[in-house]
Amino acid sequence: MGEDSGTEEGVFMEDAPVGLEQPVPEDFPPDDADVGNDGEEGDDQSFALPRDAQGRGWGPGFPNCSRDRLVTAIAGGNGIRLPVRQEIAPLVQSLVRDLEAARQRPFRADWSWGFACRAIGGGSTPSNHSWGLAIDLDAPENPQQKGATPPGRNTMPADAAAIAARYGFRWGGTYRSSPDPMHFEFMETPDDARRRSGQGGGGHGTVPYPGPPPLRRGSRGPSVLKVQQALNMDFSSGPGVFGPRTETAVKEFQRQHALRADGVVGSRTWAALFP
Ligand SMILES: [Zn+2]
Repeated sequence: MGEDSGTEEGVFMEDAPVGLEQPVPEDFPPDDADVGNDGEEGDDQSFALPRDAQGRGWGPGFPNCSRDRLVTAIAGGNGIRLPVRQEIAPLVQSLVRDLEAARQRPFRADWSWGFACRAIGGGSTPSNHSWGLAIDLDAPENPQQKGATPPGRNTMPADAAAIAARYGFRWGGTYRSSPDPMHFEFMETPDDARRRSGQGGGGHGTVPYPGPPPLRRGSRGPSVLKVQQALNMDFSSGPGVFGPRTETAVKEFQRQHALRADGVVGSRTWAALFP
């Protein structure tokens, strides 16, 4: 056993290919109430930033969708797979975790999706799904309801809007003219996302060691993501999931830093990663 060995933090699926675009069930029309640029909900002053994601620095959306920085965030009790922008992936995981805890029921993988290179239904306005900044959860039970009183019929927890805001998201259940309770969209900038999820920006040395137990194969979460960023890993397989690639990269790092190359991130390896 390595110098940093300890109990597992929880086993999680790894090496999942990035599902760039999930097959939204044909019989399920895309929700079209998300903010995008339609201005329909534009008079809501609760978000001081530009409403459209391009104006917030996320690059182009539909029809010139960029897939470069998409990852598959694996979230919730059922390990639902949500292709989203890398910067918000840890926030999506935390959002789904908190929503599931509040409603005491996990979301279904076949009823939930993320990135979709499309316009808001029936028009040409880019949907936030086309930037990888929006997710739909348990859509059949939380449909968009034009003209209904917000939040409309839904199975989300009563405090879904507050939980969403905690991570910089807006809940579609709050839309006045056509509540869309399946829908959650990130409303801030890439820098805000990185700051919220502790990705980069924080000076080294200011990153406290999250152990014990140490991080190792099977661990998951924001601390694993920090290690992956410190090792300049790509995110081709689940951000925040400590799998074989991460283990190999840690061992290589340990060799270069005269640490026992056991692939386990304990306090010494962590200190070397974040001097
Ligand atoms: Zn949606």
